Amino acid sequence: MSVAAQLNQDNTPPETAGEIPGIAWVNGEFQPLSEAKLSLLDWGFVRGDCTYDVASVFKGAFFRLDDHVDRFLSSMAKLRLTMPFDRDGLIEVMTECARRPGLRDAFVKMVCTRGLQPPSFSRNPRDALNQLFVYSVPYTFFMTEEQRARGMHLHVASTPRIPTECIDPTIKNYNRLDFVSGIFEAYDAGADQVVMPDMHGNITEGLGFNVFVIRDGRATSPGTGVLEGVTRKVVLELCEDIGLPARLGTISVEDLLSADEAFLCTTAGGVVGITEVNGRTIANGMPRETTRRLDDLYWAKHEDPAYITPIDYGT
Ligand SMILES: *Cc1c(COP(=O)(O)O)cnc(C)c1O
Repeated sequence: MSVAAQLNQDNTPPETAGEIPGIAWVNGEFQPLSEAKLSLLDWGFVRGDCTYDVASVFKGAFFRLDDHVDRFLSSMAKLRLTMPFDRDGLIEVMTECARRPGLRDAFVKMVCTRGLQPPSFSRNPRDALNQLFVYSVPYTFFMTEEQRARGMHLHVASTPRIPTECIDPTIKNYNRLDFVSGIFEAYDAGADQVVMPDMHGNITEGLGFNVFVIRDGRATSPGTGVLEGVTRKVVLELCEDIGLPARLGTISVEDLLSADEAFLCTTAGGVVGITEVNGRTIANGMPRETTRRLDDLYWAKHEDPAYITPIDYGT
């Protein structure tokens, strides 16, 4: 059975039928997701001054919860954002967001924004009241079943990712206009998704995924200029488990085009082959053995007690 088929895609709980199935925690209250609102004046919206993270729940358990919470708290610290409770309090709200609507396959997202200025309309970020939003939505794959089966066709954008020197890419952020123009370019070129180069033309990442190439019996993923994906971290561990040397390094476009195998990895889909780049076929044009093996192992880890945090739904 495919992973997509295992997921209960239509897990609309009765109490929210007809609405977006999920709930949000905003300003200390749980609300139906469809009613959750952000102020027009919030700096998260006005200035992109915010950070977020996305954890997944699969078959009723968080996957690598601590990694997502650690990354979120570290992003908040780098941006000098604060929230109304500690780590345990955050995990409690995240858990409630999955438990209350009965979502067993979900994304639990959290966003912390700089928030609202005081009535004086101060332009001093230190005066803003930071806002935390936590919400759940049903788990959905980033790619279609067909794309998972045949591998993703990527387009390397003609313009670079916002340089690391300007916006720290290890902070998961909503400053995404570089990706958005790249995605339009990819669609115009007939590709499924964009992958961004850096200022030197080396491969960085896509909107929500990291990239790996396997060449000469070794796996490499870009070490700088990218968000440090939790899935990337898991893949590095899986490579070690199967005795495949893996490292963080530099990947040129040529490395990608001439790879023995290439794949992307994301919380929103696991390990998925990359089989075409800029209209050129990678390897034999189908996801190959190691890619498929890593994806199988990735999903198998969703039942490994060392990787998961079960949620008590009380049923
Ligand atoms: C979220 C994200 C990823 C993937 O991270 P995971 O933790 O593996 O889901 C990669 N790149 C960017 C830009 C992202 O926002």
